[in-house]
Amino acid sequence: PQTAPKPMIDRSHHVGGSWHWQGFTQMAQYKKIVISEANGCWLTTDSGKRLFDGVASLWCNVHGHRHPKIDAAIRDQLDRVAHITTLGMSADVTEILASRIVEITPGDLSHVFFSSDGSSSVEAALKMALQYWHQRKDPRPKKTDYLALSLAYHGDTTGSVSLGGIKFFHQLFAPIVFTPVRGPLPCSYRLPDGVTPDAACDHYADEVESLLKQHHETLAAVVMEPLVQGAAGMITHPKGFLSRIRKLCDKYEVLLICDEVATGFGRTGRLFACNHESVTPDIMCLGKGLTGGYLPMAATVARPHVFDAFLAKTSESKQFFHGHTFGGNPLAAAAAIASIDLFTESNLVESIDAKASLLRSSLDPIQGHPHVGDIRGRSMMVGIELVQNRETKTAFDSADLFGQKVCQRATELGVWIRPLGDVVILMPPLIATDDDLKMVGKVVCQAIQEVV
Ligand code: PLP
Repeated sequence: PQTAPKPMIDRSHHVGGSWHWQGFTQMAQYKKIVISEANGCWLTTDSGKRLFDGVASLWCNVHGHRHPKIDAAIRDQLDRVAHITTLGMSADVTEILASRIVEITPGDLSHVFFSSDGSSSVEAALKMALQYWHQRKDPRPKKTDYLALSLAYHGDTTGSVSLGGIKFFHQLFAPIVFTPVRGPLPCSYRLPDGVTPDAACDHYADEVESLLKQHHETLAAVVMEPLVQGAAGMITHPKGFLSRIRKLCDKYEVLLICDEVATGFGRTGRLFACNHESVTPDIMCLGKGLTGGYLPMAATVARPHVFDAFLAKTSESKQFFHGHTFGGNPLAAAAAIASIDLFTESNLVESIDAKASLLRSSLDPIQGHPHVGDIRGRSMMVGIELVQNRETKTAFDSADLFGQKVCQRATELGVWIRPLGDVVILMPPLIATDDDLKMVGKVVCQAIQEVV
């Protein structure tokens, strides 16, 4: 009789163990959720419970899990080479991916620097901007500072934490980071006294302009998420703000770094959020959805004038003094090419807004709820802000943990979501069906109605 092949990995060992220290997770209270399989938009836990992946595995899984095309691309690459360095050499797939990224990103973005996660792509952008000002034909070595928006979130490495403006995440680390020039929070929900929605864009952009006037001589770059500040709680900028900032950066000779780690790859209803306002940043950061969320990879994409400042006749000078062991990894590159193909060979991007409106209308039952202050975001980036008082927009006491409780209830009801404070976040995979989205809306409404 034939014996069954020995499983590659004995999966029984994790049971009951608590060796894994997880990020942004209070380990003393955490009831482990262990996933053993996933398919499409659905996750299966080790006890067999099925959960809808309502935040696309932290906003990155755009085409669903186990997509045959991405799986096949990774397997095919595995039969060729799993990893080589990109310091001084490169894999064929990594070359192909760089050209694909240049093809799909806005305007004349032309050169791609690879890393492994969104934070590192921002880190590379910061160093790239500083080194650029040092090395360009007309060097400006005093330009070593950055302007970041209020409540900014650009990752967890020290450079990206320096840009961060979320007290809870960032304040503790002040002693080990630099201090940026802090811009406004271009929020459309809570407007400053006397500012009407129509005047909001100019109001916030004028505030940035006065900071640029004051600091442009020492500013290397303005760093911002275009359109929506995701981790800030889906803070949605007034229309036109991004293009005003682009013009101001040109006027005051400051680079514009757009962090599209969260907004990129279809989330806002266009391939990139910058496309909405026809803006080409000088440097663009990509991560999360780049590989469809299958393998760790990020990219920092620069325009020719930035790249050219790093070229020299001798091999030892002017090169970018930065490089990651796993940057440009061939398996991740193969996944990313397959993921980009899925965008370019179908009408996925064109279909996103219609799906997003369906998701929005499935939230109609909570539109007038006394503790739902705002339902916001762009397209498939949705935030539902829970407030104590809808009229005054007064927040709940953070210790009440209503966001967390709503998400726990939704998980019990079969939809895995994670809050940002009292903002309930919905970022489903872009391939979610109409029925999936109606179900997500129904569960979220039920969870809010029961908990708040
Ligand atoms: N930038 C933005 C806008 C993000 O939302 C995130 C992560 O959520 C990052 C950077 C950091 O990416 P990573 O977690 O891959 O380091």
